[in-house]
Amino acid sequence: MKTTTFQADANGYYGEFGGAHIPETLAACVNKLKETYLTVLESKEFKDEYMELLRDYVGRPSPLYLARRMSKKYGCRLYLKREDLNHTGAHKINNTVGQILLANKMGKRRIIAETGAGQHGVATATVCALMDMECTIYMGKVDTERQHVNVEKMKMLGATIVPVTEGSGTLTEAVEAAINDWCSHPDDTFYIIGSAVGPHPYPDMVARLQAVISEEIRQQLQEKEGRDYPDYLMACVGGGSNAAGTFYHYLNDERVNLVMAEAGGLGIDSGKTAASIHRGTPGVLHGSRTLILHTPEGEVMEPYSISAGLDYPGIGPMHANLAKMNRATVLAVNDDEALAAAYELTRLEGIVPALESAHILGALPKMNFKPTDVVVLTVSGRGDKDIETYLKHLEV
Ligand SMILES: *Cc1c(COP(=O)(O)O)cnc(C)c1O
Repeated sequence: MKTTTFQADANGYYGEFGGAHIPETLAACVNKLKETYLTVLESKEFKDEYMELLRDYVGRPSPLYLARRMSKKYGCRLYLKREDLNHTGAHKINNTVGQILLANKMGKRRIIAETGAGQHGVATATVCALMDMECTIYMGKVDTERQHVNVEKMKMLGATIVPVTEGSGTLTEAVEAAINDWCSHPDDTFYIIGSAVGPHPYPDMVARLQAVISEEIRQQLQEKEGRDYPDYLMACVGGGSNAAGTFYHYLNDERVNLVMAEAGGLGIDSGKTAASIHRGTPGVLHGSRTLILHTPEGEVMEPYSISAGLDYPGIGPMHANLAKMNRATVLAVNDDEALAAAYELTRLEGIVPALESAHILGALPKMNFKPTDVVVLTVSGRGDKDIETYLKHLEV
């Protein structure tokens, strides 16, 4: 029998994607992390602390909500996994809580992170306040101006924000600046990456820390449907962490169809897109071999999406492999489709989703469900941060 695994191998490869493509100066840090993370994550002490914080601080388990009006509209049993109800408003906190506990166990006192829209920066600054750690956040200069409120929040939480002026002054350069910082402070510094990207072991570590989502889905479906698996799992992908968490326990369960939505932007052929699976070609970005948006000259292309959290030129290696092996269906959802979907969820269910989550909601009209199908769609975050964009783009 053919056994396929969609998990990372010992070297962090998912098929042809992944690995740890890093400068010599980082090899010691990354190797230390690689040797440590599984032992810590699987220890009882870590699990107890992690689960306690997820329960009492983050507010887990997040509800699995049967959306009746949306179910009727799309002809299936549609459940929403409510990551929008977590403390700080998205799934990102699951990962930062886990990584800061690991940093603590490794004796690190100084935390660095990158952020694009500021959501991961806020989630990191939050856990640094909680654990009394020094926190430095790298953020593109352009993004600090676009996401002013999140910058103020991070400052209030006690973090130092370093605006990055190189290149386009956005997420790609912020990641590079964070990696450079890590190279120059390998002894006392822990780099908390915000998505299932970067060199091994980050994609696997982030996926494991987000796997609490699929673990809960399993239990909640058993209670609500009398079976512990759905017919479809749906999630949006920027770097891929909420999708990795949603899929984790079902990766090798072929009864479950996996569906991802990436940001089409103004259209995958418009040149203004973040659809790295549809339009990307293999290369190395931020320490990992994956699918990357390239210009005709072979440079990393500046991505575009209305949603800052999906505006990344690459994709996690797990997801590149899921797409390549046809294990997952990948749909590109454009700005206008995501906006319409956000309004639809708000009006049908009274839930204002994050613009990122609106992309997977925008995939629903492209699906073809049977009435008996059980569908679980992860609402990765809440839309408070996006209200201005929503009001600007649609008539109320
Ligand atoms: C950051 C973010 C995303 C995209 O990140 P993934 O790692 O792909 O999950 C999606 N939704 C929300 C609400 C976010 O803040």
